[in-house]
Amino acid sequence: MSTTDKLTADEKALLEKMISGEISLRKIEEYLDKDGSAKLRRAYLESLKNVSFDHISTYTFDTETVAQKNIENLIGAIQIPLGVAGEIQVNGEYAQGNYYLPLATPEGALVASVNRGCSIITKSGGATVRVFKNMMTRAPVFKFDSLEETKDFYDWVMLPETFDKMKKVADATTRFGELLEVQPFVSGNNVHLRLGYDTKDAMGMNMITIASEAITKLIADEKGVPCVSLSGNMCTDKKPTAINAILGRGKTVIAEARLPASFIQDTLKCTAESMFDANYRKNFIGSMRAGALGFNAHAANIVAAIFLACGQDPAHVVEGSLCITEMDLAENGDLICSVTMPAVEVGTVGGGTTIATQQECLKLLDVAGAGAVPGENALALSEIVTAAVLAGEISLVAAQAAGHLARAHSQLGR
Ligand code: NAP
Repeated sequence: MSTTDKLTADEKALLEKMISGEISLRKIEEYLDKDGSAKLRRAYLESLKNVSFDHISTYTFDTETVAQKNIENLIGAIQIPLGVAGEIQVNGEYAQGNYYLPLATPEGALVASVNRGCSIITKSGGATVRVFKNMMTRAPVFKFDSLEETKDFYDWVMLPETFDKMKKVADATTRFGELLEVQPFVSGNNVHLRLGYDTKDAMGMNMITIASEAITKLIADEKGVPCVSLSGNMCTDKKPTAINAILGRGKTVIAEARLPASFIQDTLKCTAESMFDANYRKNFIGSMRAGALGFNAHAANIVAAIFLACGQDPAHVVEGSLCITEMDLAENGDLICSVTMPAVEVGTVGGGTTIATQQECLKLLDVAGAGAVPGENALALSEIVTAAVLAGEISLVAAQAAGHLARAHSQLGR
């Protein structure tokens, strides 16, 4: 039965008005609740196109909240298969213990691959993980009429009392966020101010966009300089950039595991030397020749799968791809593997983290919602994500060192 067949007489009358153009997809919410509006949109699209939304129409999340906070013009939900890899032992500062990793992906072989990496990491004593920097950024841009004015503004920004004033107005917009740093970048008569914040358990883009707007108002009031754009792209949000790779954005996290040679042979069916060689020639020479910003095998794969499962902003996979994967031979023959992730942008409150299915995945990792100490849940999540990336990197480099890549995909991914 099509969605139209299931409509009441009143709903059919509304559908007619949608078809005639009298009521738009967006405005249907003035007549119906969020669930009813979603149904009418489906009916409208089904009447226009040769499609039946038998699957998209099935979901369990709270429509009122999701349509209010997460999506416009809701018509339903897409299902992405969810698997689990692990357990992986994480020896972090915030995440400590064994974790099952929720991974949402349509890509066969990915979960199996991460699972294999988890297995050898855990057998080898776990992944040591540390967060080195924790700062989310927004960078408004200002333009000036002359170089004198540009330098005057730059000098004013560099004054300690200017930072204090900026911090006061920015921190007043949020209960949790804190301005940590203001870094000016000048070119010609343009100044980009890279504003860095601690956003605690929030990924923080909405939070700091609001806080940064307060700073632009202060600048307009004090210096008479209007902001050209609240985001001047030196933030840099959702674009692959050297500035994020070098200075970091969100959490800068490193995970390391020391794999005994015998475990590599038993579990990964190759040698420490062959993994060292494959990693060097692929992740370093190959990436360098390609002009890559990330020097890794497939960090984005793991970031994407765990982000989708845990309600993170999927576009931040771009920053997650800026990973450097190192594999070093120790004197005793162990392979020391690490991933350096300059920009892990995660939160455990806000955004997609409140959707029921994603909440369940965060609960599986014991990081749902606000931490007992604000910020600690998001820090723990960043450590788990980085350990998961390490597992994926170890497994894929090993598969390529052993010549198993095509075989694994033909068996599991087709
Ligand atoms: P949000 O859902 O907009 O806000 C989260 C809010 O939760 C915080 O601002 C804070 O309120 C409150 N909160 C409660 N407990 C907290 C705790 N323990 N730690 C931190 N905050 C706590 O989430 P957001 O992380 O700021 O933004 C994420 C969303 O922004 C995503 O949906 C993403 O897709 C979207 N996004 C926006 C932009 C943009 O330019 N605006 C860019 C990229 C992505 P208070 O601030 O009042 O304390």
